[in-house]
Amino acid sequence: MRFEKPTGTQDFLPGTVEKWQFVEDKARDLCRRFNYREIRTPMFEQTELFERGVGETTDIVEKEMYTFIDKGERSMTLRPEGTAGVVRAYVQNKLYGEPDITKLYYMGPMFRYERPQAGRYRQFHQFGVEVFGTADPSIDAEVITLGYLFTKELGLSGVKVEINSVGTPAVRAAYRDRLLAFLMPMKDSLCSDCQSRMERNPLRVLDCKKDQDKFGGAPSILDSLDEECSTHFEKVKAYLDAMEVEYEVNPRLVRGLDYYTHTAFEFKAQGIGAIDTVGGGGRFNGLVGEIGGPDQPGIGFGIGMERIMLILEHQNIELNAVKPLDVYLVGLGEAADREITKILFKLRSEGFSAERDYLGRKMKAQMKSADRLQARYTAILGDDELARGEIALKSMETGEQRTVRLDDLAKELGL
Ligand code: ATP
Ligand code: MG
Repeated sequence: MRFEKPTGTQDFLPGTVEKWQFVEDKARDLCRRFNYREIRTPMFEQTELFERGVGETTDIVEKEMYTFIDKGERSMTLRPEGTAGVVRAYVQNKLYGEPDITKLYYMGPMFRYERPQAGRYRQFHQFGVEVFGTADPSIDAEVITLGYLFTKELGLSGVKVEINSVGTPAVRAAYRDRLLAFLMPMKDSLCSDCQSRMERNPLRVLDCKKDQDKFGGAPSILDSLDEECSTHFEKVKAYLDAMEVEYEVNPRLVRGLDYYTHTAFEFKAQGIGAIDTVGGGGRFNGLVGEIGGPDQPGIGFGIGMERIMLILEHQNIELNAVKPLDVYLVGLGEAADREITKILFKLRSEGFSAERDYLGRKMKAQMKSADRLQARYTAILGDDELARGEIALKSMETGEQRTVRLDDLAKELGL
């Protein structure tokens, strides 16, 4: 019997994991600077939460959910995205009762039953933020800037911010009619998903990947915005201008759910083909209410980590991710070997990264091992040195070797 990982999943091995940690650390550090705090919610929730929170007419709910009946005969779903669970936790834990607005971030695996390909998996990972408790356009701009800075500080080039306003439900109702008038004549030429969405949620038709190129002449939702929506959108753009964040207005960028309001945005990379969207988000002033909470506005984004890793690779960006070992200890002789074990433990307790040989290998093989681990130093202890309370310390960078007092070893290694 041979076992293999499930289709569309990945094993992240040492060497790769360090890169992921580097990117995750970047996200955490940015969130600290922007004053967003981490929230961790369950990896599965009641199915109905996603049906409501993500929307019945989305690809996710229509085709991609990992849904199962648990032993208590409840329908559960592995989370396909982060927002619904965070909103549920915000409501259930009454975070809206706190005096300040709520600024949260999350990171972790998401699950969607999709056809795997480059940049598309069944288990993938997102970094996302959600802000609750204010409809102020300055927060829209802040959230966009956070995502933008994340890609910038990782060194990615050519990432574009696209923004749009999807208005309010009333605005969309008016736009819906104009859009339908445009779509009707081409109905027969559209894919079956588009045809069914034309009836249930025409805005989502604009999201279709297959028929995208047919919508060039579609009416712009921006022409349907009312005064309140235009003002909000103008303010968001003005804030972005003030921060010198470059963006492009894309009037066909829609998130066709009833509770999405005002700002919608995406981060797009170039040169990685159909999977060029690294992340997206928007304002959802109706969602908290939809999930059973008070009428609190929210906004957030989700960024796909696999896509980020893919672009880093594509753009040949080397992350300075591997941390070299401080010292590799070599013991020559039985007594020295025992002493090495003691020193190893002491150094590790003091905060150094230290390693030794466990295979009884010759000195030369041990030195090679030290090289592979990119050790800064090798410390060699023979029975003679041991008798004198000394150890030979070799800098692997310069090749220089000197004898130091065993008691001074930690000091010599520095930290
Ligand atoms: P796509 O159009 O690529 O299917 P989406 O609209 O389904 O993306 P969102 O739900 O907005 O994506 O999720 C935000 C981000 O999460 C995406 O931009 C992408 O980077 C990432 N993502 C979504 N689905 C997957 C997946 N199956 N595998 C890897 N990353 C994914
Ligand atoms: Mg998708």
